Amino acid sequence: MTSDFLKQLRDTLGTDIVETDADGIAPWLTDWRGVYKGNAQAVVRPRTTGQVAACLRLCNQYGVPVVPRGGNTGLCGGATPDASAANVILSLDRLNQVRSLDTVANTMVADAGCILGNLRRAASEADRLLPLSLAAEDSSQIGGNIATNAGGVNVLRYGMARELVLGIEAVLPSGEIYDGLQTLRKDNTGYDLKQLFIGSEGTLGIITGVALRLQAPTRVRAVVLAAVDSPDQALQLLRLVFGACGPRLQAFEFFTDQCLDLVLSQVDGLHAPFPTRHPAYVLVELADTAGEEALQAMLEEVIGQALEQELCMDAALSATLAQLHSLWRLREEISEAQKADGPHLKHDISLPIERIPEFMQSAEARLRTVAGDARLYIFGHFGDGNLHYNVSRPLGADRGWAHEWEERIADLVFEEVARYGGSISAEHGIGQLKRRAFHQHKDPMQIRLMRDIKRLFDPNGIMNPGKLL
Ligand SMILES: Cc1cc2nc3c(=O)[nH]c(=O)nc-3n(C[C@H](O)[C@H](O)[C@H](O)COP(=O)(O)OP(=O)(O)OC[C@H]3O[C@@H](n4cnc5c(N)ncnc54)[C@H](O)[C@@H]3O)c2cc1C
Repeated sequence: MTSDFLKQLRDTLGTDIVETDADGIAPWLTDWRGVYKGNAQAVVRPRTTGQVAACLRLCNQYGVPVVPRGGNTGLCGGATPDASAANVILSLDRLNQVRSLDTVANTMVADAGCILGNLRRAASEADRLLPLSLAAEDSSQIGGNIATNAGGVNVLRYGMARELVLGIEAVLPSGEIYDGLQTLRKDNTGYDLKQLFIGSEGTLGIITGVALRLQAPTRVRAVVLAAVDSPDQALQLLRLVFGACGPRLQAFEFFTDQCLDLVLSQVDGLHAPFPTRHPAYVLVELADTAGEEALQAMLEEVIGQALEQELCMDAALSATLAQLHSLWRLREEISEAQKADGPHLKHDISLPIERIPEFMQSAEARLRTVAGDARLYIFGHFGDGNLHYNVSRPLGADRGWAHEWEERIADLVFEEVARYGGSISAEHGIGQLKRRAFHQHKDPMQIRLMRDIKRLFDPNGIMNPGKLL
């Protein structure tokens, strides 16, 4: 049956689209981190939406599992097949054209396989901003970004990928094309079906085209690093800065003194920002289309108020671009510093912002009762309630500690997240990695509805089996 399927696939799409040679398939079988490895009978790389449709129609007819592949930068094993040799990996990399860009309506329509960084550059050349931005933007594809509802560094101001999507074109497992590729801002005609594809992790169909909203470019920036004595003080500071700066508030990042310690010890060329150390730090960035002096004055004014009202202990304002980058590096290099330090147990979680201080206190108290001398590194996009809650081995323990403690600590952290009304996955999704926690913590009624939707779109269960649900 399989060879009949492959013959039909090749006859329909051509041998330049269908790769079946073991050496040709091998590079497609692992994820970005090398944590997951699977198997496949073919890699299909269509050039048109019609070819995607033809491929899915055949896979559906033969009951062949399909694993959609974007830029393969997802960190949950979502684009990696399971061990079955029956899988077909469907890569969007050849569907990579900008279809249109409109600087009146401020919209862009593109193939799903376009690299995010290329789309950001195309928008910038037209004097517009595509605000979705993440460290993997020069490898990840816009289709993958939407299938995972990616976040990134500009969520506070512009929202997650979901908030930037106006329309979607997708191919259903039946081979039918869902043509929702519109750029209308307003369309109240019943259920908003495109939303189902956003964050669906390839389990409902293949996204082949996207319509995105663009923004005015930001050209000037001002940054301050504020020292705070507690997460509660950071919360009060956020309230003040948002009230004073509103839409200019571009980033509100948090990190503890333990993170600063790690960065200063592991990364060359960085210096402590204040003469004395403080329990935690907040990096605030404002950005605007023009008016550098006015923006700097606005930031100085609000930080002056914060110091006066004792909403922060000290503050370092950037006066030059070089200083701005140095302050940002203290936050951005934390992940690199962790890598150099050894394996860290990472939990990318989100919480109702006002409950972050309670969560931090409660989770640490529990952690100390089970793994007293584990090292804790907490940092993240505080302004949108997203924390990286990372735990590392006690000083002197060997690197195997992380593997041994992984499940116990994840259970503890996720239980506390649930207690405070948060989410076990802020940005990266579920994939293969978080399926156990997903089933432990997601409302069973919501899982049932998700399964019902999955059955409606994909009655034969061919789309990305073993992921998410
Ligand atoms: C260094 C680094 C930094 C990162 N920073 C962030 C960050 O700040 N914020 C964040 O949210 N993520 C971040 N990520 C994770 C990752 O970049 C995002 O999840 C990204 O959106 C994945 O896009 P991709 O094209 O690589 O998708 P892939 O990894 O190829 O696929 C991800 C999932 O989407 C499905 N999929 C892919 N394309 C399609 C399609 N066209 N149609 C249907 N399903 C599809 C796959 O089957 C899989 O389930 C980071 C990753 C790295 C390596």
